[in-house]
Amino acid sequence: MNEHSNTFAKKLKNIFEKSFSCFKFINFFSRNGTIQNLFARNYKIQNNESAPGVYTVPCNTCDQIYVGQTCRNLLHRVKEHKYAVTKGHSSAIADHAQSGHSVCFENAKIIHSEHNLQKRLIAEALLIRNNSTFINNKASFELQIFN
Ligand SMILES: [Zn+2]
Repeated sequence: MNEHSNTFAKKLKNIFEKSFSCFKFINFFSRNGTIQNLFARNYKIQNNESAPGVYTVPCNTCDQIYVGQTCRNLLHRVKEHKYAVTKGHSSAIADHAQSGHSVCFENAKIIHSEHNLQKRLIAEALLIRNNSTFINNKASFELQIFN
C-alpha cells in the first residue's frame, strides 16, 4: 500500500461518510470491509493507459471533466470518443464538444487502475457523483444508494 492508495481511500471514505449516514453499505462490496482494502492495491497516480481502469478527460474551456471506465487501452477508448465527436454522434463527450467546448483528449488519463469490473464501476460512480462532470456523463452502473 502506498501514499496515493491511502489518499484515495481516505477521499472515498469521506465521500461516503458525507453522503450516507449508514456507512455499513460499503461492506456489501468488500470482503475485508473497508474502502481502503477495496481500492488500496490498485490505485496509481501515474498514467497507465494500457491497463483497465477509471479515466478522466478534461475540458480546455471549462472546469468540467468526463469520467469513464474501460477494460481496454485508454488510447483506443479516446480514439472512439474522438470519432464520436468528428461524426457528430451523441455521447457525453461529443455533446460537450458540440456545445462549443474544447475537450482536451491529450490529457486523458487513467486515475484508478482496476481489473475488477465491479470495483471499476463503483469507483466510476463515486467519481462522477463527486466531480463536476459533463452533462450526460452517467455512471455505467447506478448504485441504488445514489438515487
Ligand atoms: Zn467544457
